[in-house]
Amino acid sequence: MEKIQMTTPIVEMDGDEMAGILWKEVKRQLVEPFVDLKEEYFDLNIRSRDETEDQVTIDSALATKKYGVAVKCATITANLERMQEFNLKKMYKSPNATIRSILDGTVFRTPILIDGIDPLVKTWKKPITLARHAYGDVYRASEMQIQKPGKVELVYTPEDGEEVRQLVFDFKEPGVASGMHNLDRSIEGFARTCMQYALSIRQDLLFSSKDTISKVYDREFKDIFKRIYLDEFIEKFTAAGIKYEYCLIDDAVSRAIKSRGGYVWATHNYDGDVMSDMLATAYGSNAMMTSVLVSPDGKFEFEAAHGTVRRHYYRYLQGEVVSTNPMALIYTWGGGLEKRGELDGNEKLQRFGRMICEAAANVIEARGIMTADIAKITSKPDPLVVTGHQFIALTRAKLEQDVEKEWPEG
Ligand code: NAP
Ligand code: MG
Repeated sequence: MEKIQMTTPIVEMDGDEMAGILWKEVKRQLVEPFVDLKEEYFDLNIRSRDETEDQVTIDSALATKKYGVAVKCATITANLERMQEFNLKKMYKSPNATIRSILDGTVFRTPILIDGIDPLVKTWKKPITLARHAYGDVYRASEMQIQKPGKVELVYTPEDGEEVRQLVFDFKEPGVASGMHNLDRSIEGFARTCMQYALSIRQDLLFSSKDTISKVYDREFKDIFKRIYLDEFIEKFTAAGIKYEYCLIDDAVSRAIKSRGGYVWATHNYDGDVMSDMLATAYGSNAMMTSVLVSPDGKFEFEAAHGTVRRHYYRYLQGEVVSTNPMALIYTWGGGLEKRGELDGNEKLQRFGRMICEAAANVIEARGIMTADIAKITSKPDPLVVTGHQFIALTRAKLEQDVEKEWPEG
C-alpha cells in the first residue's frame, strides 16, 4: 500500500527501560510501515537527558508548543537511587513535570475499556476521565528541614507596599515545613480546559477539592471554577444536556465508586496523581490507561499512564520471557496520529490513528489473546498469554488486513 502522507510533523519523545523497548517496536511495526512519518524526534532516555543536562526535555516541550501534537514514552524520574544507577550529573526534574509546566496544560486520563476486561467496580459501565491540574502545589513547593527550635513564617513582599507575615509554625523541636503556590491564570486555564473537554465529549464535569480545610488555597480553586462556569459555560452546558458540579474530595471518591462512570473528574495536582492510579487499577490494569496533556491554547501531548516497567526490564535483561502490556503505548501512537490528522484536516491519518487502537483491541476482544497482567483479570475463558512483542506483531497482522479492506486501491 502507498504510505499515508503527513503535512505537519508529530513530536516524538522516546523513553526508558521496558516501555522504551516496546515503544520502538510499536513505531517500527504499527506506524512506519503505513505512514510516511514526518516527525521531530527527541530522545528523553535518562542518558540523553544527562548528556544534554535536560535541555532535550525542554526542547521537546517547545517543539510541542510549535507543532501542536506530541507522543511520549514513559521516562525514568531521577531520584537518589537512579542517580547512583546511572551516575547522573544532577537529580533532574521529572520530564513530565517539566513538559507540563512549559505547556501549562491539564492531564486527562481515560481507561481503555475492552470487552472481557471488566472493571473491579461492578457498577462502572463507562470510563471515568480524570483531569489532573498540571501546575504547582506540592510539585512546585519550597520545602525546608527544621533542625532546631525557631519560627517558620510565610513572608509576602509586594513590589510596592508593606510586607505581610504569617506564622506557619513555631517549632520547639525538629520537623519539616513547606510553602506552595498556584496562579489564578493557571487555575482559570485548568477550569476552561476541563469545561471544554467535558463539552467535547458531552459528559458531566465534577471538580473536587477540600475548601472546608483549606479555606483560602482550595477555596480559590472552587471560586474560579464557579466563576468561569457561570461567565462562560453555563449556557453551552445546558444546551449539551450536561452539568458542572463542585464536590468535596472525600465525597467525590465515594461517589466515584458508586457511580456508573461516564464523566470527567477534575482534581488538584496531587489528588489526580493518586486517584489516577486507583482508577487505572480498578478499571483493570495500569497498562490500560491513556493520558493526554491538553494546554489552554490547544496543544496535545499523548502518553501512557504507566511508568517504564522497570521490574520487567531487569528480568528481560536477564533473558527471561516477560509479558509486558503495550496497549497504552499503542493507544498513545494511535491517539497522537488521530489528533494530528484531525488538526491537519487529514482524514486518512485521523482514521488510521483510530485503526491502530481498534486492531489492538480486536486481538484481545475477538481472539482472547493478551498479556499476563490482564489475563489475570479477564472474564474470557482460556486466554492465551503472549509477550509484548508478540502482541504487537498480532496487532500488525490485523492492522494490515484492516488497511487493505479500508483502502483497497492503496
Ligand atoms: P511502573 O513502571 O508503572 O510499573 C509498576 C508495576 O505495574 C510494574 O512492575 C508492573 O507490575 C505493573 N505495570 C505497569 N505497566 C505495565 C505494563 N505496561 N504491562 C504490565 N505490567 C505493568 O511504575 P514504577 O515501577 O513505580 O516506575 C518505574 C519507573 O517509571 C520509575 O523510574 C518512575 O520514575 C517512572 N515513571 C514514569 C512515568 C511516566 O513517564 N509517565 C510514570 C510513572 C513512573 P508487576 O511487576 O507486578 O508485573
Ligand atoms: Mg502516580
